[in-house]
Amino acid sequence: MSELMVRRRWKSIAAVALLSAATGMLRRTDASKAAETYDLVIAGGRVMDPESGLDAVRNVGIRSGKIAAISASPLAGKQTIEAQSLVVAPGFIDLHQHGQDAENYALKAADGVTTALELEVGVADVDRWYGEREGKARINFGASAGHIAVRMAVMHDPGELLPRGDAAHRVATTAELEEISALLEKGLKRGAVAVGLGPAYTEAASNQEIVDVFRVAAKYRASCHVHIRGSAAPPEGNFSGFEEVMAAAAITGAPLHVVHIQSTGGPNVVQELRMIAEAQSRGMDVTTESYPYNKGMTSIQAAMFDHREDEPDSYFASLLWPATGEHLTKDSFLRYRKQGGWVIVPGNTLENVHAATVSPLTMIASDGYVTNGHGHPRTSGTYALVLGRYVREENALDLMTALKKMTLMPAQRLEKRAPMFRDKGRIRVGADADITVFDASRVIDRATYEKPLEHSEGIQFVLVNGVPVVKDGQLVDGVYPGRGARAPIVQ
Ligand SMILES: [Zn+2]
Repeated sequence: MSELMVRRRWKSIAAVALLSAATGMLRRTDASKAAETYDLVIAGGRVMDPESGLDAVRNVGIRSGKIAAISASPLAGKQTIEAQSLVVAPGFIDLHQHGQDAENYALKAADGVTTALELEVGVADVDRWYGEREGKARINFGASAGHIAVRMAVMHDPGELLPRGDAAHRVATTAELEEISALLEKGLKRGAVAVGLGPAYTEAASNQEIVDVFRVAAKYRASCHVHIRGSAAPPEGNFSGFEEVMAAAAITGAPLHVVHIQSTGGPNVVQELRMIAEAQSRGMDVTTESYPYNKGMTSIQAAMFDHREDEPDSYFASLLWPATGEHLTKDSFLRYRKQGGWVIVPGNTLENVHAATVSPLTMIASDGYVTNGHGHPRTSGTYALVLGRYVREENALDLMTALKKMTLMPAQRLEKRAPMFRDKGRIRVGADADITVFDASRVIDRATYEKPLEHSEGIQFVLVNGVPVVKDGQLVDGVYPGRGARAPIVQ
């Protein structure tokens, strides 16, 4: 036998041995299944799994934070959730959640979210960010290495979440560019799940700087989550901002994810969705997301509000100050701009928001953020809104497709870089027991621009790593089963 043949023969022997070991294990599991007791059983719900297409009444057995059995026959559990007439779905994965503290995690859980990720703005110090949350979070959390956050750190910008000084307004020096790339690379080595960018917020970053960031991302197979540059005003819209990142992805090979296309797509939403489909058909790895509201929210000190003093009164009146509920005037605009804070802004037409949200291309992601009780209702209501209004009331989406946009698609977006996401977004034996159980006949959002903290209704049980964080429609306090969702750490 040649050396090659020996190796082949050895391989096939090993394969047979492995196979018989595996079937032996299966048989043992089968025989003892009836007698087994699970940590928790979700009994008699309508189990919906967008990956396999399973849509049937099943019992789900959970052990050690994982789904251990999915069975048509009854299972015994130390605890049982009676889920008759409820839908049992994978927990929702929110790729766009800025608020990453207890206040925000509670709102997310009440809306069915089990993993909330800060991918657009991202963070500058990945280790510190994960360390601050480990063991203290109600739901799973994760972050990107953020170009916005890193540019702010390198250029000593005084802004909080978003830049308002040099990181927004100044071209970076060669030394600063090198430092930005080095910090992004460090973040990726420490397990950041993606790279975030917002050329709309870092207006002085050149096209070349953006391409350089994509190059770093490509090296680590990290998707770039981008708030694209440009005006949303017709007739031109923001094609140039859209094409900037499409070109950067094509040139570097980095996967691209265009965030909240329903707002930044402006008048071009439908055309841009078509361009994404065309790029996908040519083999480009490009995806996008939408949230179902026609107003946005951002920092009043962001660069996009520079040079707005001469706008007509109607422009200021279109801005809402959520801290007080007032519509702005030129005077209050200038006053609040000095003070800083969050402002609700017109986003897009209802038609464009609707088109983006029902498109099979978009994932549902909230762009959520509340702080000290103030913020945007998308934080608390995005998922229940889609399930209640788009699916049940309008029949604009079928339930399985809507769930796929909230679970499987976001998991698949990240799993090449962060393989732990292969066990999220699915109801499958071996998957993480991140599960949302809801009443499809009743689920609805309750948060409004005036009352953004109202919990969604009809989200009955939410499990994070097998631990209930919502029970009978009420938040469970004092449990912190959330874990850091992270890519492998490399030296
Ligand atoms: Zn954004």
